Amino acid sequence: MRIATWEGIRSVEVSPIDAPTPGPTDLVLDVSACGICGSDVHSFAEGAWIAKGMPLGHEFAGVVREVGANVEGISVGDRVTVNPAAYCGHCARCLDGHENLCENMSGAAGGFSDRVLIPNARRDVNVFVLPDEVSFEAAAFLEPLSVAMRAINQLRPPLDEPILVTGLGTIGQCVVQILAAQGASRIVAIDTSPIRREGALASGATEVLDPTSEDVVDVLLEKYGVTRSPYRDRSGAFGAAFECAGAAPVFDQIFQLVRAAGSVSLVALTAQPITLDPNVVVQKEIRVVGSFAYSTEDVRGAFELLASKAVQPDRLITHRFQLGDIQEAFEVQSRSNESIKVMVSP
Ligand SMILES: [Zn+2]
Ligand SMILES: [Zn+2]
Repeated sequence: MRIATWEGIRSVEVSPIDAPTPGPTDLVLDVSACGICGSDVHSFAEGAWIAKGMPLGHEFAGVVREVGANVEGISVGDRVTVNPAAYCGHCARCLDGHENLCENMSGAAGGFSDRVLIPNARRDVNVFVLPDEVSFEAAAFLEPLSVAMRAINQLRPPLDEPILVTGLGTIGQCVVQILAAQGASRIVAIDTSPIRREGALASGATEVLDPTSEDVVDVLLEKYGVTRSPYRDRSGAFGAAFECAGAAPVFDQIFQLVRAAGSVSLVALTAQPITLDPNVVVQKEIRVVGSFAYSTEDVRGAFELLASKAVQPDRLITHRFQLGDIQEAFEVQSRSNESIKVMVSP
């Protein structure tokens, strides 16, 4: 079998490797589709969170090929998708209900390959059996959908008020899709990339804006109204915002556009530290919530939306590549003006 590994800045190579053998609690699946994650692109382009020879790819779905003797409820031939994160279950954070912050978290990578071994396979925990009508490509979005699900579960935004989503990579798009599925009536999405703004409209955004061609604060104060609170006489009317861009200029805009007692979810990582005026957070009592990865509960919520087709993330696929062309697949995914999601199949 073949597997793609990171070999240096902007270099991914496919090479042969021995096929994995499952232990009694593991399973092996034949990969059908694996999406390129934003974090994979950071690894590819900057060498972030990776070392030479390490595999990439954690957003995958496929067909079960071999099952360990002690795995229950999953059979050879099942079409499945995977939660690649594994939590230890006994550290302080696992025990206090924050397994996404597990002290001993490990993750399954290696989705850009013919086969993947899933250690400790447990149905509806880290392996989910797909209904026939859900495609492998849609199912490969379980992981980014889970990231978006956590951000929304953590923030619980008021769905009857306007909600802002900044940054329309896969996570921002998944946030838009879930908000729309939950019934949010006004979702305003912002990104510099035309193809990503278009994608957000298809995902359920009610309005999209290009921050390079207009002053988004002026436009949104005008359109959605101005709110007032002590020392702050010109805030926006947004009940909540999801920051999925990680770009410095959006932070000031978000904190101005969110109303007093509103809430902001920080989902994206930033490449550089940013400066932020804490007075606005204090004076408007803005609830700022960081959101990292996902818990099993978030993954189950994401899977329900996927299985019921309440969300259709495969609409975000702009390019498809074979495993042998993975270098080009990464180049395309790293060009945000051209792509939303690049999907790779063996
Ligand atoms: Zn991912
Ligand atoms: Zn733990």
